[in-house]
Amino acid sequence: MAFRLLSPKNNKLVSVKLLSITPVRELATATPTYTRPLSAAGLFASGHMRNDWTKKEIKSIYDSPIMDLLYFGAKVHRENFDPLAVQQCTLLSIKTGGCSEDCSYCPQSSKYKTPVKASKLLDNDEVLVAARKAKEAGSTRFCMGAAWRDLNGRKSNFNKILGYVKEIRSMDMEVCCTLGMLDESQAKALKEAGLTAYNHNLDTSREYYPKIITTRTYDERLETISNVREAGISVCSGGIIGLGETPEDRVGMLHTLATMPQHPESVPINALVQVEGTPLEKQEPVSIWEMVRMISTARIVMPKSMVRLSAGRIRFSQPEQALCFFAGANSIFTGDKLLTTDNNDFNADQEMFKTLGLIPKPPNFDQGTSPSNKIKIDEVQEKQIQNIL
Ligand code: SF4
Repeated sequence: MAFRLLSPKNNKLVSVKLLSITPVRELATATPTYTRPLSAAGLFASGHMRNDWTKKEIKSIYDSPIMDLLYFGAKVHRENFDPLAVQQCTLLSIKTGGCSEDCSYCPQSSKYKTPVKASKLLDNDEVLVAARKAKEAGSTRFCMGAAWRDLNGRKSNFNKILGYVKEIRSMDMEVCCTLGMLDESQAKALKEAGLTAYNHNLDTSREYYPKIITTRTYDERLETISNVREAGISVCSGGIIGLGETPEDRVGMLHTLATMPQHPESVPINALVQVEGTPLEKQEPVSIWEMVRMISTARIVMPKSMVRLSAGRIRFSQPEQALCFFAGANSIFTGDKLLTTDNNDFNADQEMFKTLGLIPKPPNFDQGTSPSNKIKIDEVQEKQIQNIL
């Protein structure tokens, strides 16, 4: 191939022969030189919405090499979200301790002797001041947690909470509650008050669940989630790793979430925070790689859900948290406390946003009613599954 160029020596046109040329674009997308087959993370990272995942498929994603999980988690993340936008949420304990449930990880259970002191429902001023402060600090989602089994027999407290929901929603923030089990009419009342989301975690797999909680069943949890969905409230449901569960249990939990008729809009991934006095106080802390595996797998199987890097973040360094954001997490909880356990320093979080080039994600009030999380199975996806299995 020959080109005519202007010579810098004498300013005359000269003929130049080029033996070969490699376009820049081709370099960037060059066919890999290796021959090993693509890992399951790559095969399943189509970003298609599915709710017919099998446990085998999810386990194969979870077991993929970390580098592939990072890459393909990030790919699906970028296809569905602005990868720099990370939502900051605040979680306030509005009624602490004295809970009749026996969740083995929880310092608020009355069954265990822990440093947490029980207290009554916070009053209007305390809650609203905290919400305003959270908003000023950049939070766009305000979550209120109460240590209750359910709302039965708590009519006056529930009415107060409905009032808090209305007020906070009028501040232009997403409002989320976690108040224990809900029946249909309570879910409806929360919806009417303007609640954006309700959190009710599965915690772990159906199989491992009885080792963690004995005072309520897995099916009761699913019933509350279904009442929330039916009321048109967005569903926030995830779990905790580091409870002594196996990788199969982690996969089992993700499988239950990812095979719901509509994926939860919000999936918190927590790492156990060991608290003195709870049965799990001596549990080994989870590694960052276990968190990355969970986050990437959640991102690949529930491409449009918000994946929240939640409790336990305090143990992870800034570079480790960056890996979680890269893998597909797009929300954190800011503020000194996460219910009753310590959380990351506020200024350190702001510094992290600056260093990583993250931007605060604005609120989304469309959750629960938007079709974005509804499942559409298409031909491409059918073919992909057939090819893999
Ligand atoms: S996790 Fe919730 S329900 Fe379980 S003991 Fe703690 S406060 Fe009670």
